[in-house]
This record gives sequence, structure tokens and C-alpha cells, in this order.
Amino acid sequence: MSGPVLAGVIGDPVAHSLSPRLHRHWLRRHGIDGHYVPLRTRAEDLPETLRLLPRLGFAGVNVTIPHKEAIFALADHVSDRARRAGTANTLVFRGGAVHADTTDGPAFVANLRDRAPGWRANRPAVVLGAGGAARGIVAALMEVGVPEAVVINRTAARAEALTDLLGAGCVAAPWSDIPRHLPRAGLLVNATSLGMAGKGPLEIDLSPLPPDAAVADIVYVPLETPLLHAARARGLVAVDGLGMLLHQAVPGFAAWFGITPEVDADLRAAVLG
Ligand code: NAP
Repeated sequence: MSGPVLAGVIGDPVAHSLSPRLHRHWLRRHGIDGHYVPLRTRAEDLPETLRLLPRLGFAGVNVTIPHKEAIFALADHVSDRARRAGTANTLVFRGGAVHADTTDGPAFVANLRDRAPGWRANRPAVVLGAGGAARGIVAALMEVGVPEAVVINRTAARAEALTDLLGAGCVAAPWSDIPRHLPRAGLLVNATSLGMAGKGPLEIDLSPLPPDAAVADIVYVPLETPLLHAARARGLVAVDGLGMLLHQAVPGFAAWFGITPEVDADLRAAVLG
């Protein structure tokens, strides 16, 4: 098919998504004849949407709330890591089939390496949360070799379901055990929605963390969460959630538009607008 390459993001609501801004920055930078559009899609319309988009010239789409899990069941091919995480955020339409992948976990690690270059996967990681984002992050941290991932979640059953899925090296612990796990940790991750604008704060005493530990928050509204502020105040390396959002977009852009784009300061500035 000739003409501009099309891609977009499906979700409901979708107007808040920063993805159009970041993909358009890359399209402009690389002079690509393409468009990236937000597509508000109701859950009941997902099967029809996935059938129609490739026929309309779309090379693929990102998937956002609340469809990240539902889309998984509708795809023809699902990557191993998406299957492990039970969620998908990137769809590629190829050869008449829908290929689903999740890029959140690898994006978290890529951003961590970028923003905390001294971090090594040689000590346990403590991950707060066991939702969709946490699942991908824990799987990716284990893939890069952390010796132990301690998953701590308000709803214990959800943390246990994740540790059952990921097996040895991944353990669940109750919220009250946080102080016990921090002294051994090389990394603390907030993968809950606490600290997000409009939600309650995440209140944790960071003093048991070793001085060279990194603290990462995947919440990016606000960019500087109270957790990151407290980490910086203690002299710890603090990693915000925007970088993960930028990195998760790279594989989709590369698959749809044929160029692997850079995550750099210009992109951050363009997205922060
Ligand atoms: P999710 O599947 O709905 O999971 C939400 C998580 O937050 C669960 O672990 C939940 O615990 C926990 N939680 C919510 N309210 C809580 C409270 N009052 N006290 C303690 N824990 C609470 O959502 P998600 O998709 O994983 O997203 C989580 C956050 O990450 C959101 O803020 C989202 O915007 C952000 N995110 C950022 C990126 C990025 O690129 N930076 C990517 C994806 C998501 P329960 O299981 O007990 O309910």
C-alpha cells in the first residue's frame, strides 16, 4: 500500500495520552511520511477495530488503559514476554495477523540504565505493586539477572499470583515487611499508582536503603513524586517515570516506520511541551 504510514494509540479515554506527541516528534525528526493518531476505542469495539485498522493502512497501534489485558486475547501472535506479563501495549499488523508485545518492562530497564548508570543487577530489587506495569517490570528485572525480586502489594493475593507465575527468584512479602527488605536492596521501584496526581502519597521511610541504592518511580504525573523527592533528599539516585514511557515507544516506532529512534533530551522536552 502506498501513501503515509499510519499508527496510533487505542484506549478509552485516550485524549490524555502523551504517545502522539512523542511519535510525532520522531516522525518530524526523521522526515517520515507518517501519522500517529489517538483513537478512542470502546471495549466492545475492539475486535472490529483490529479487523479494520490494517485495512485502513495502519501498520500497528499502541494499546493503553483499559485494553492492555483484553487485547492480549484478541491478538493472533503474542510474544513470550507479553504472555509472561499477561498484558500487551504494542501491536504490529503484519501478514494479515495481529502481533502483540509488551515493551513496558524492557523500557523500565533501559531507562534505569540511562538514568542510573551506576546501577547493577547484582542485589535484590524491591518492587511495590503487582498490577500490569509491575508484572512487566519484575519479569524484565529477572531477565537481566537480579538475584531476587521482592514483590510487595496491598492485595497480597495479587503479589502471590505474580511470584507463582515468575517462579524462583521472585518472592512476595507483606507491606509491613518493607523495612526488613530495604537494607539488602540495590533498587526500590514504585509500580503502584500511589504518588500520582489525585491519588494518595506513597509514604515509606527510605532510611534503611543502602546509600548507593537507586529509587525509581513509574508514576510520571507529577514528574517529581514525593518518593523521588525524598530519595534525592537522602542523596540517592532517583529515576522518574517519564523515561520509561519514552523507551516503551521505541520498538513500536521501529516496527511501523522502519527507523529505530533515539530517546534523548530533545524528546523529553518535546513531550513535556
Ligand atoms: P494497575 O494494574 O491498576 O495496578 C495498580 C497498582 O497500584 C496495584 O498494585 C494496586 O494494588 C496499587 N494501588 C493502587 N492504589 C493503592 C493504594 N491506595 N495503596 C496501595 N497500593 C495501591 O495499574 P498499572 O497499569 O500497573 O499502573 C500503575 C501505575 O504506573 C499508574 O500510575 C500508571 O500511570 C503508571 N504507569 C507508568 C508507565 C510508564 O511508562 N512510566 C507505564 C505503565 C503504568 P492492589 O493490587 O492492592 O489494588
